[in-house]
This record gives sequence, C-alpha cells and structure tokens, in this order.
Amino acid sequence: MIAIISDIHGNLEALKTVLGDIEERKIETIYCLGDIIGYGPDPAECLDLVAERAKMSLAGNHDHAVFYEPVNFNPPAERAAFWTRLRLDEEEDEHRRNQRWRFLGGLNPREAEGDFLFVHGSPRKPINEYLFPDDVYTAPQKLLANFDRMECLTCFCGHTHVPGVFVDDPYFETPDEMGDSQRYAIGDEKIIVNVGSVGQPRDRDPRAAYVILHEDEVEFIRVSYNIDVTANKIRENSQLDDFLGARLYEGK
Ligand code: ZN
Repeated sequence: MIAIISDIHGNLEALKTVLGDIEERKIETIYCLGDIIGYGPDPAECLDLVAERAKMSLAGNHDHAVFYEPVNFNPPAERAAFWTRLRLDEEEDEHRRNQRWRFLGGLNPREAEGDFLFVHGSPRKPINEYLFPDDVYTAPQKLLANFDRMECLTCFCGHTHVPGVFVDDPYFETPDEMGDSQRYAIGDEKIIVNVGSVGQPRDRDPRAAYVILHEDEVEFIRVSYNIDVTANKIRENSQLDDFLGARLYEGK
C-alpha cells in the first residue's frame, strides 16, 4: 500500500493529522505530488516533515514559485509565495536552511514508475496545467490530449484540490459516486486520479484528503483536523490574506 498526498500548502495541522492516519493504517510508503508550501503558515515545518516521511516528492507550481518565481499567481498567492521565501531564508540554522532549499530545488516535475505516472498538474504539463472536473464538458480535448500523452494506464495528480477519477470518455467520477467504499478499480482502463488536497480542499468538504493505492484499486480518504489552529495562524500573519484561513472552513 502506498499513501499518496498532495497540496499541503503549509498547513501543518492538516499534514500531521494525515500522517497520523497513514501511520495508524500501518502504511509505510508515502508519495507527495507537490505544493508542500504556499498559502499556509508553516512552510518550513511541512517541508521538513515531507522530506523526512515521503519516499518520493514532486514539484508543484507553488514549490516552483517559491524556488524560482511566481507565474500567473493572484496577489494573495504571490504575497504568500514571497513570504514563504522570506520564512525559509530567515532560518538561523544554516544547515537546515540549506537543506530545505536543496530539497525544494531538487524536486522533479514528474516521476514514472512501472505502470504509474505521478505529476502535480497534468501528464503533458506536469507543474502548471489544471484538469478540472468541468473540463469534461468545457474542454474535453484538453483531457483527451492528456490521456494521449500517457504511456501507462494510471496517472496520479493533484493541483485542483478536487479528488476523483477522470476516465477518457471523458468523465469525472467523484469519490461519492463510487459509493460507500470510495474505491475505484485500476488497471482496466486509462485513468487520471486526482488525490485531492491535504491542506486546502476545494470540493466543499473541509476535511483533509488523500488517496491509498492498493494492489488493484485506489481508495479516497478524508480526515478531520483542527482547522482553527491553522486559520488562527493565518490571521496572525500579516503577509497571509485572512481569506486563506476562512476558505479552509468551507473547503473551497
Ligand atoms: Zn495546490
């Protein structure tokens, strides 16, 4: 079993809760699909935890933005990226500071492993392209072009913060549509699995999301965490927009 997490966005409280859930299930292998930082109040602590616990980690657009520069970010996201950079630079322990920057700069945009492809955004544009559920109706060609780019059957991504499975009809199936098991069989058809977001869910469910990869299916998991802790830290941070905390309660 492998736990696949993504889009933590500096939300330490959500990350710790998810890591605890993973540990309770005795899952030892963790992959992270990027956006460890950006938006949230605890970027350094989240980087340390992911670096320590995840066997594989990818670069997301926010990780990329902090290390290089923000591209097409809205003002609150850009401000958060610059504050995150400052926070990492302010670390007094030189070894830790360098370690974090090296880890961030060393993240790859995609990893292929056996019959799986792992990206943050999409198969053809692994860092920045969004695959939205609505694309099924409004941009089916975009989805089909991405399925064409896949040489394997199963791709895992994050980025939109909306968990579910794309099939090449195209169609997007939400975990709720999968019934009580919240599981989807893999290996029969080409699918793109969005694992959702640990630290900033946007499917109107505020609980932290991640996915467990079993032998022949994926399982969508939700866990409640103490949102107040993160939202309060955001409120106390003058460089992080209050709405970044408020949105956590609504899951959007
Ligand atoms: Zn993200």
